[in-house]
Amino acid sequence: MNPLAAPGTPVVFVLFGGTGDLAKRMVIPAFFTLAQQKLLPENYMLIGNGRGDVSHDDFRKHVHDVLRAFGPAPDQGPWDDFSSRLRFAGGGFDVDDPGRLLDVITGARADLGGDTQLIHYFAVPPVAFPGLTAALGEHGLAAGSRVVYEKPFGTSPENFRALDAAVHGVLDESQVYRIDHFLGKEATQDLHVLRFANSLFAGAWNNRHIKAVQIDAPETLDIDDRAGFYDATGAMLDMLITHLFQVAAEVAMEPPASMSADDLQSAREEVIACFRPLDPTEVVLGQYQGYLDVPGIAADSTTDTFVAARMWVDNDRWRGVPFLMRTGKRMTGSTQRVSIVLSEPVDAPFDIPTDGGVLTLSLAGTGAVELSMIVKKPGPGLELTTSDASIVLGDVEGSDALQPYVRLIHDVLIGDRSLFTRPDGLAHAWDVLQPVLDRRPAVQPYPQGSWGPEAAGELATPDRWLLGQ
Ligand code: NAP
Repeated sequence: MNPLAAPGTPVVFVLFGGTGDLAKRMVIPAFFTLAQQKLLPENYMLIGNGRGDVSHDDFRKHVHDVLRAFGPAPDQGPWDDFSSRLRFAGGGFDVDDPGRLLDVITGARADLGGDTQLIHYFAVPPVAFPGLTAALGEHGLAAGSRVVYEKPFGTSPENFRALDAAVHGVLDESQVYRIDHFLGKEATQDLHVLRFANSLFAGAWNNRHIKAVQIDAPETLDIDDRAGFYDATGAMLDMLITHLFQVAAEVAMEPPASMSADDLQSAREEVIACFRPLDPTEVVLGQYQGYLDVPGIAADSTTDTFVAARMWVDNDRWRGVPFLMRTGKRMTGSTQRVSIVLSEPVDAPFDIPTDGGVLTLSLAGTGAVELSMIVKKPGPGLELTTSDASIVLGDVEGSDALQPYVRLIHDVLIGDRSLFTRPDGLAHAWDVLQPVLDRRPAVQPYPQGSWGPEAAGELATPDRWLLGQ
């Protein structure tokens, strides 16, 4: 048996929003990947839920179509076994009416036999989270279950607090898995491995040796077919307070007491309390030119499609080191990079090129670690130049990289919460953003295919954004 396979307890996995967009793009493909890799429990059922009526067979056909479109292809197996484990429970699920879910779960439990672990995955819009949570409590599906909440867990400070109270009214924190898929990326996890396993980095991870941190996630993408969602959200709420803050916390965390799930999660979420509330003069919001012409966008929308921020971490390790974060739509490149910019050596006996001394983790795909160093240019003289060493994580011997959703769903199955967010961290994240919500900077236009508004470049002075502008 695969040593990583989930424990033997049969699992009933309920996928709320089972025919929705996220289920189609991410959750169902991830589940089938786990089946292919033999990382699922031996005995399980996957029950889709929705407000409409879908027969079990139609759901199986839907899942088959989804896998053909988004992979892994069903004919690469094990489709027959997988499809025999699919059910659908229609008629919605709320406090007043459980629809068909209770009956279908009872049937699944009878088929699986013995005690079962219930896992609920809320792949539904955030507005539906409180009602579904209350319904779990009302209909006896909460006790002992694990519940996965998609992002965003809270759309404003008030909404976050209300949701948190609603969730903890029904569930213990140990049952809650809040997804932030950036934490499931291989290279994000290498931030703590690289640092704590290599003395070269462990000793240098502080403001004596690091002069800046850049977390840069530009996108060439537009807003696809999600105009309504995006226009109500914007880059700051969609990316900054979620993914980029969590990655910043991965960089900034103090050494955890151990690498156990609880200690790792604590170390990451607790350091967010040291993030200084953002100064609105250190935040640049942008909107790409042409955004207002996108179908579904309000003609006078001031939604930010770009955000850049300079943040400070108020503790001894990081005092004085700017954390620069940037992301946006329709920019000139698509990448996700965390760069640790090392300070120049003091009293170096020669002039040093200014573009060396950077440790970069590329979070995209299976990830990469790059180290840019100053070396002697081979030749008769003493000429210095910058050169890069790179490790593509997918090429590491024995590499068996999991996509973030595959990894995170597997973690839910085995009950490992280390890569999920915690409410104290999220509460602090909202505190950090609050000044910008109170005094929102004007949104500045930027040309498509650019690095965003020019003002964002000034945030990086006296240095520059490593990727551009
Ligand atoms: P969606 O397609 O709009 O909705 C998913 C499903 O939820 C719908 O098919 C619908 O199923 C059900 N639903 C919609 N409104 C509901 C309501 N008020 N009450 C109960 N059920 C409702 O959403 P999505 O794009 O899949 O996103 C799902 C979640 O994932 C959201 O929290 C989103 O923020 C997050 N997310 C999505 C993406 C993405 O790429 N799509 C990326 C990151 C995070 P029925 O009509 O069958 O009930």
